[in-house]
Amino acid sequence: MKKFLSLLLALVILFSVSGCDLLSPKEQEIADENVRLKVHFIDVGQGDSILLESKGEFVLIDAGEKESGSTVLKYIKSRNADSLKYVIATHPHSDHIGGLAKVINGVDAENFITVETDQTTSTWMNVLKAVDQNDVNYIDAVVGDTYAFGEATFTIMAPLSKNYSGYNSYSVVTMVQCGEIRFLLTGDAEKDSEKEMIDAGEDLRADVLKCGHHGSSTSSSAAFLKAVKPAYAIISCGKNNDYGHPHKETLKKLKLMDCTYLRTDKLGTIVASTDGKYLSFATEKGKTEIATYSAGEGSGETEVEYIGNKSSHIFHYPNCSGVKNMSEKNKVEFTSREEAAEAGYFPCSACKP
Ligand SMILES: [Zn+2]
Ligand SMILES: [Zn+2]
Repeated sequence: MKKFLSLLLALVILFSVSGCDLLSPKEQEIADENVRLKVHFIDVGQGDSILLESKGEFVLIDAGEKESGSTVLKYIKSRNADSLKYVIATHPHSDHIGGLAKVINGVDAENFITVETDQTTSTWMNVLKAVDQNDVNYIDAVVGDTYAFGEATFTIMAPLSKNYSGYNSYSVVTMVQCGEIRFLLTGDAEKDSEKEMIDAGEDLRADVLKCGHHGSSTSSSAAFLKAVKPAYAIISCGKNNDYGHPHKETLKKLKLMDCTYLRTDKLGTIVASTDGKYLSFATEKGKTEIATYSAGEGSGETEVEYIGNKSSHIFHYPNCSGVKNMSEKNKVEFTSREEAAEAGYFPCSACKP
């Protein structure tokens, strides 16, 4: 609702200034000279690759599968980047680091940030070899460390532990900040890492969340989304991928929070621009959505919760038609599925909470 109000306000201001009848997407964009940070979510199919750009300084986070290496390198060069100040390898899975060796061998990279694991695949070894051969400074990711580039910074938020059951939760999670606008980029971090971030008591609020693990239901827990309160979510995944990413549970949760999500499989490369206060998006394919949005007006006012019926012992999402017809005295609220299950309630077969 607040988002709508701010758009309305922007419309009113523009009307009174320019007297124009309709607001074209161009007029909503932030003027080039005012852009302080661009975040490019590069379409690499099923994988992740994100380029951060601020005042001529660049940071690359992941580079998709091996065959995406040249796409990412080309993209970096198209931005006239002479060098990458930081290259971050979130975790040693091929859909994130496969293209990195090609990039590091193809453009000057100053620093390489990652977290140590016992991974020994040849794909990962090739990345480490490229780092070594090109004299790139190797940095261990340490939670709490902040790095500056241009007029923006990024802070390492995770991983907080040394032992996880899979490589995904070893993901280096970064909070990127420019002025009042924040992006939380989570690699493939799953619910265990999300919970640690919540428990650590850090301020996780962000205007834009790059959903963990390509929108999989193993990430983006309700509690985490509630802590981040993103107004926008980015899902980086391939068309018709083998994993069914993004999972419908994740999309449902985002919708419920009134969070607008943008998918690289549908829109191609997605570029977010900010002047530190407003945010706008441009996409490669299809429409260029999006009104400017001002900082701190994230969604999440609607808490992710469930409503049970005391007489039928069935629980629903709040927007299910089963709730609309329920009498007030029969309603009981739950903040999680677990809570509902423990109370002996079963999920509705229509809204499938
Ligand atoms: Zn992974
Ligand atoms: Zn992945």
